Amino acid sequence: MSRPLSLPAPILALPSRTPELAALLESWSLINSGSGHLTGLERMRHALRAEFTRAFPAALLEEPVLIGTTARALRLRLRPSASRQILLNGHYDTVYEATDPFQTCSRPDADTLRGPGVADMKGGLVVLLAALQTFEQAPGASALGWEILLTPDEETGSHGSAPLFIAAATRHTFALVFEPARPSGDIVQSRKGTGSFIATCRGRAAHAAQVPSSGRNAILALAEFLLAAAKIPSELPGVLVNVGNIRGGGTATNVVPDFAQSELDVRITRVADREPLLARLHALAAIIDGRDGFRLELTGCFNRPPKECSPVEEAAFAAWQHAARDLGQIPPNWVHSGGGSDGNLLFAAGLANLDAVGPLGDHLHSDRECVVISSLATRAQIVALFLTRYAAGEVTLPR
Ligand SMILES: [Zn+2]
Repeated sequence: MSRPLSLPAPILALPSRTPELAALLESWSLINSGSGHLTGLERMRHALRAEFTRAFPAALLEEPVLIGTTARALRLRLRPSASRQILLNGHYDTVYEATDPFQTCSRPDADTLRGPGVADMKGGLVVLLAALQTFEQAPGASALGWEILLTPDEETGSHGSAPLFIAAATRHTFALVFEPARPSGDIVQSRKGTGSFIATCRGRAAHAAQVPSSGRNAILALAEFLLAAAKIPSELPGVLVNVGNIRGGGTATNVVPDFAQSELDVRITRVADREPLLARLHALAAIIDGRDGFRLELTGCFNRPPKECSPVEEAAFAAWQHAARDLGQIPPNWVHSGGGSDGNLLFAAGLANLDAVGPLGDHLHSDRECVVISSLATRAQIVALFLTRYAAGEVTLPR
């Protein structure tokens, strides 16, 4: 396919960097940075700091400590007083802890790299780096100020990083989030909000022969609640309820168990789904709680609110698609995702964002996680061209 001659040469040359980008990604994937592995997170942050400060020596470097942990975020800012600003967001933790058997990389075929975090989202960090290096070679780069924010706790809910997102939202009106794209190339239009709740049921212990005269079986009562809770999605479209685990009783089976507990993962599509879901869960709990000899307590909360799609995302997506088309690439679509990301938290903080602009990935959070190697460069091309046009004022996003 012929390409318009007006495209910047460094952007067109990006695919020639593919072997180098793949090697960098492999080296990062081999550093274990499970969310709970603090020394591994530190090694990973040092590796990122080395690469990013070498690429952008003039950027202001900060490594703020997160609340509730010794882990640090990595933040680089350049041209903070430019009239146009953008936040480039990613996370450097993975779901694979130091004890996980999945610790090495392989190449099942010439264009596939399999390894821990290669897509989610160390591959995205490679795309961010390559795109920004390329953008900085553009003559109009000085018109755009940027902030890179890389955090170490996304996979466990970003509890420590949340204040950093709120602070970033005061400096920016738009962000790119470098989560992986779908295997099809589609990116994320909106994401479900997530929450986790614990249902704790207490009954009354008794000899197994004393049901129901004296004993109150907490396992059976909790099971009744859980079966009803699992049906909530049929009443509330856009809501998901997953009963994730259950425990109760003791080793003796001739005792009526007085305790049972279960954790539930809940997801909502719109902020407006939250109250009806909570009301339904509490109503079901109250049915059990109101029975003689039983207590059913529900604790927990929503952690990530849903990421909905605003006119800013609509406009940014159109410009991003346009950039892909001009590069001779098939313009990707966007889809609703059941999974949460820091795009949710940024959106909740008032910062519109385009999410999943990283490379094409598959089988995330499993020992088959893989990335399409060539997409490291092709996705970086789209981001670099988008940034070039954003800096030039050719991409206008509604306020
Ligand atoms: Zn991720």
